[in-house]
Amino acid sequence: MKYKIVCDVHTHTLASGHAYGTIREMAEAAAEKGIELLGISEHGPGIEGTCSPVYFWGLTKTVPRILNGVEMFHGCELNVLNNGTISLPDKYVYFLDYGIVGIHLMCYEDVGAEKNTDNLIECMKHPKVNFISHPDSDDSPVNYERLVKAAKKYDVALELNNNSLVEKHRRFNCYENYRTMLKLCMEHRTNIIVSSDAHDPSQVGKFDLAIELLEEIDFDEELIVNTSKEKFKEFIARKNRVIEKK
Ligand SMILES: [Zn+2]
Ligand SMILES: [Zn+2]
Repeated sequence: MKYKIVCDVHTHTLASGHAYGTIREMAEAAAEKGIELLGISEHGPGIEGTCSPVYFWGLTKTVPRILNGVEMFHGCELNVLNNGTISLPDKYVYFLDYGIVGIHLMCYEDVGAEKNTDNLIECMKHPKVNFISHPDSDDSPVNYERLVKAAKKYDVALELNNNSLVEKHRRFNCYENYRTMLKLCMEHRTNIIVSSDAHDPSQVGKFDLAIELLEEIDFDEELIVNTSKEKFKEFIARKNRVIEKK
């Protein structure tokens, strides 16, 4: 297989309120699937039933960094709000290894492609935001040209989300939207990340549909940040160094 993805950093556990495994069950599944680095990214405030902000405070200090031989990272799938800010206060965000930001209509009102894009770009400027999750649905459209260019500028990787492509809960027009996004990423040399968005241990490391799509458009492997642990960690560290300089 041309594309080998060894880090899965967009996953959810019981703490997200609508996912069904524990951190340890997710790590076990990751080990079985050959995932070398597992990132847990519970939903941030705004999603019904998710953990409270203080949950994010203890993660990196408390959970062992290696479980079942898998390196563990901790992030959050933050919500973009309609004023272009993220839904978790900075005092918690800075305890995390990385941040993902995504549009979730449970706590965000679609305001059309241009304004949605503006709001996501505002979040990209945050030093702890490394990824944009599932920018793929016509329910919350974006301007791909602007999104891809801004992601390059602010050192953010755009996600190709395997879960969005699964037929039983496929996101609206996501195949076409991903084709557009991925072609622009190659044109502008913008990084992407491939994620399972697992909500159950059985989904950890599941990238089959995403990889099919990458093969279809012969996507440039160099632009995928999670094909090795080193590459992923260097990608995160690059933006973190900006914080340390402040
Ligand atoms: Zn999401
Ligand atoms: Zn998610």
